Amino acid sequence: MIANYWWNKKDTYKIHWVKWDTLCDSKRDGGLGFRDLDSFNTALLAKQAWRILSRPDSLISRVLRAKYFPNHDLLEAPLGPKPSLTWRSIWGSIHTLQSGLRWRVGDGNTIHIWGDKWLPRSHNFLVSTPPSLLPANATVSALIDDDLGIWNRDLIFSCFSEEEAAAILSIPLGNRVFTDSLIWHFDRSGSFTVRSAYRLIRELKAAAREALTGGPSVRQIRNWDWIWKLHVPPKVKHFVWSCCSGSIPVRSQLRHRNVTEEASCLRCGCEEETTIHCLYSCTYARQIWALSELPYSSYSSDSSDIESWFNQVRKNLDSKDFGFFSSLCWWIWFSRNKLMWEDRDTQPQILVNSVRGFHRRFVASRSITPSTASNRSNLHWIPPSSNYIKINFDAAVGNSGDGVAETTAALRAVQFAIESGWQRIILEGDCLNVIKGIVIREASLSSVGCILEEIKVLCRSFSSFSACHTIRENNRAAHELARLAYLDSCFYPVLPSAVLEIVLSELSLI
Ligand SMILES: [Zn+2]
Repeated sequence: MIANYWWNKKDTYKIHWVKWDTLCDSKRDGGLGFRDLDSFNTALLAKQAWRILSRPDSLISRVLRAKYFPNHDLLEAPLGPKPSLTWRSIWGSIHTLQSGLRWRVGDGNTIHIWGDKWLPRSHNFLVSTPPSLLPANATVSALIDDDLGIWNRDLIFSCFSEEEAAAILSIPLGNRVFTDSLIWHFDRSGSFTVRSAYRLIRELKAAAREALTGGPSVRQIRNWDWIWKLHVPPKVKHFVWSCCSGSIPVRSQLRHRNVTEEASCLRCGCEEETTIHCLYSCTYARQIWALSELPYSSYSSDSSDIESWFNQVRKNLDSKDFGFFSSLCWWIWFSRNKLMWEDRDTQPQILVNSVRGFHRRFVASRSITPSTASNRSNLHWIPPSSNYIKINFDAAVGNSGDGVAETTAALRAVQFAIESGWQRIILEGDCLNVIKGIVIREASLSSVGCILEEIKVLCRSFSSFSACHTIRENNRAAHELARLAYLDSCFYPVLPSAVLEIVLSELSLI
């Protein structure tokens, strides 16, 4: 129904140029991000399954367990004879829930090293290195040093492949009283979300499709984010997307689909009308490009593939000129349709002048207003009220930030306050997830839950404690200190001059 609405105009049947499944791919992967209702429904049902799993004492959990799986866990429950529609639907989504569940290590007593899903990596949570030094039924607690409460590195490196050992050592270990728990891997909070489950279902479907067709994945090759980041009106972005996805109804495409016999160009009549001919090699298009004042070397090409042409031009032009280039493409196509359906042609010089004017006005309307820029320059650290001590924290972790570094930085800040004997504390950082994790009362299911719980326990020793989030511009000193320490791989005994400068400049603004 949605596909019909998208392709058809005024209740007439039109060609569906791109298949529905591709339209449901994300915009980055070459689709339009339409919602695949079947996958979305499964994600909603999986949310119900998660609720039954995470709230075993709720009424619905107790009723369904008593009727359908009194002797099993939910994840191993059978469908059973004569299931109700409710149970059948929820049961059908359990496999989705299973694909995203893994164990979060607490004391490691209930997780089997081999057979249970517990490695924090994106594709497979199971250990694949076969057992050697440890028995096959060993639990994860065997890998933890009992006295120190840290991973036994030597044992881990001798038992697992390098990649798996690194994954294990990346798991934070907190207080050993912390028990193991099942979490949803695909959301930072560790709790199930419909959005992450929907994305997972789509990825699993695409992987299954690619396994059937074989060859390199089109989704891995494509990265069409650049289309949606163009500085042009939405209709031009959609036009560029249509060109790249082969859905412009040029005559060669129409003949390919047996709509017409005629495939020669409407204007010059001497070549087949393909998208690249219409936009680049046709005499009319060449006149437009010559008048555009874009350098010839930036758009000249002998490629017959429109996507390669766009990619080539994109490398040669800056974003503003490429926006102008994309708008010209749209207008060449618009002008071709005017000629075809209304028998009205536009002179190349008039067309180029109009597009230049439109594009200039569009860019001017989107530029940042001076008032916003000056507001940002006024941002600075805000001091606490009297008798309070504010501690700002931050961490720098290259590209692999998963919250462990930021949470550990918050823990270190709290420990520092205790060591210093301070009592009235405000903890401030720019990582919203960490602050949320500290503020909420319930135990966090995130992978850094054990560190967050440790912070909460330590905070009880203060006479007054609060944690608040700020934007990065107000946390510059901590941010810069973390960045420098990460680059130099060292701990500074005295404040580096770059950080001292920030502190002094912010003090002068207070
Ligand atoms: Zn032509």
